[in-house]
Amino acid sequence: MIITNSGRQFHLSLEKHMRLTSKFFFLLTLLLTISSVRSQNSQHDYQETANKIFDTALQEGQAYEMLKELCLDVGPRLSGSPEAAAAVEWGRQTMEKAGLTNVHLQALTVPHWVRGSVEEATILNSISVGSVPLTVCALGGSISTPTLGITAKIIEVNNFDQVRELGEKARGSIIFYNRPLDKTKRKTFSAYSGAVDQRSRGAIEAAKVGAVAVLVRSMTTREDDVPHTGAMNYTAGVPQIPAAAISTVDANFLSALVKKDSTVNVNLKLNCQSLPDAPSANVIGEITGTELPDEVVLLGGHLDSWDKGHGAHDDGAGCVQSIEAIRLLQSMGLKPKRTIRAVLFMNEENGLRGGKDYAQRVAANGPKHIAAIESDRGGFTPRGISIQAEPTTAAFKKVMGWAPLLSAINADHFESGGSGADISSLKKNGTLTMGLLVDSHRYFDYHHSDNDTFDKVNERELQLGAAGMAIIAYVLANEGLPAPEHN
Ligand SMILES: [Zn+2]
Repeated sequence: MIITNSGRQFHLSLEKHMRLTSKFFFLLTLLLTISSVRSQNSQHDYQETANKIFDTALQEGQAYEMLKELCLDVGPRLSGSPEAAAAVEWGRQTMEKAGLTNVHLQALTVPHWVRGSVEEATILNSISVGSVPLTVCALGGSISTPTLGITAKIIEVNNFDQVRELGEKARGSIIFYNRPLDKTKRKTFSAYSGAVDQRSRGAIEAAKVGAVAVLVRSMTTREDDVPHTGAMNYTAGVPQIPAAAISTVDANFLSALVKKDSTVNVNLKLNCQSLPDAPSANVIGEITGTELPDEVVLLGGHLDSWDKGHGAHDDGAGCVQSIEAIRLLQSMGLKPKRTIRAVLFMNEENGLRGGKDYAQRVAANGPKHIAAIESDRGGFTPRGISIQAEPTTAAFKKVMGWAPLLSAINADHFESGGSGADISSLKKNGTLTMGLLVDSHRYFDYHHSDNDTFDKVNERELQLGAAGMAIIAYVLANEGLPAPEHN
């Protein structure tokens, strides 16, 4: 009996258990189905929104017109220059016209270096070529030479080890750094970073062994007769010596000459100088979030440029794309839950004061920045997004899930990598920092030189980059990201 009873009871409770379990599984399946339909729906909705953003960007885009104004009306705009001050005003007015809200300036002071009117280098009294002028330009931050210039023997090197090996033999010479960008690199940014130490630290290493000036092969993948400038540095306790970039064509010419004749002398004349710091500003505008206005997704580029060309690809393109991305959302009536903010950073090229200052203010007073995307690789065909996070993190995986939204324009290559110089300081505040990836093969043809002019930018490529930024910013602003501590 007892056995039967308990057996029956067991049977009944088993039946009940199974009914309950199947009910539970039914409910679970239902919930999972609903949530998967929902996420498919939202992914589907985002895809539709993305397609509309692409249509609007290609049909009614304004980034190209904005860039034309910045390049042709304002021109190149090195930090501290009158043109940089004009660019700040251009940025403010352009954001207002584009319908951004809360448009304001964030004041800061910036270094003020001026190129001057003299930048000349001449091979003197060579036994094989006589006296020949070379195409050079001062590197940003360099001191001037005496009025009559510096005349000294050229010693060619490819790296700092060779400079150190020279020791006393380098005293009184002009060190000529001639290591080219590695053409076999698939990504031109890798080629650039493999050579740029010659420009940034070349004067320091040469001065340590008593050299009196440096010439640095231009940081370009191209062979042309245009010198490419860029920032160089001095350091405390090491004498400051003048530094100039030489075009790649003339670097090859000088190198061939030095190999034939070890006594080649060059006269270098520069009259650049550093003036006291100048007032300037970052320019900021937004579309305010409907549900979480105090959480920000930032889009940015840098407003300053070198004083060569128009600063079109570097980085007028990134500035107008940041404004245009928000203008597109605004004009289409799209209302993100979180605030999307465009920031035109000042002084990326020779100090990074704008980016550093911005991150400090955010760390001290907020608002919370959940994510930031910078466009500073030129206004070329967009290819994807570089995410400054480990691929194992939840935030990285979430952003990767949105890559298909950009597949219609083949910009769905999302990968782990760097973001942008201006926004990298935000990373320590817990912001997920990202960079717009573009086709990089032509960038260093133009970079920091007279070649970087408005006509080198293609309207469709520029617009599609802005559209890509708008799409990812919109989804980020609506969906948010997992908190960094859960990454
Ligand atoms: Zn740049």
